[in-house]
Amino acid sequence: MVEFNELDELYQDIILDHYRNPRNRRRLESPDIAAHGLNPFCGDEVYLDLKLNDGHIAEVGFSGQGCSISQASVSIMTGLLKGKTLDEARELHQRFKRLMRGEELPEEEQEELGSLEALEGVRRYPIRIKCAMLGWATLDDGIEEYEKGET
Ligand code: ZN
Repeated sequence: MVEFNELDELYQDIILDHYRNPRNRRRLESPDIAAHGLNPFCGDEVYLDLKLNDGHIAEVGFSGQGCSISQASVSIMTGLLKGKTLDEARELHQRFKRLMRGEELPEEEQEELGSLEALEGVRRYPIRIKCAMLGWATLDDGIEEYEKGET
């Protein structure tokens, strides 16, 4: 059991680090995709901007406010998105969702989630899962809007 406590502490460090030193925290000028997400259960808010280049995500920025889980999760997400296609981004979202539902993922799928794994412990607190998923839900909305505009 000691091991599990240590693991939680490590995870907490990762979450707090992203909360205190968020990555890619800036708004982008004339983004291709811009989305706003709100989690009324907790008061979390996220603005997400993406710039695309040749079908790949070239730049990511976010701003927002809310609990450490929501903001750390977005910060980690922005680091994972660069260079991905929109389909790959959606695939990562699905994978993260499965992790949060308690599914055991194959090792290579887990590796691709990187620091998102630190949020695994959140699944013990169902009300906080929405916090962890907010950035991804916002991303999905943004991609959907963008693709509607394309056709
Ligand atoms: Zn929250």
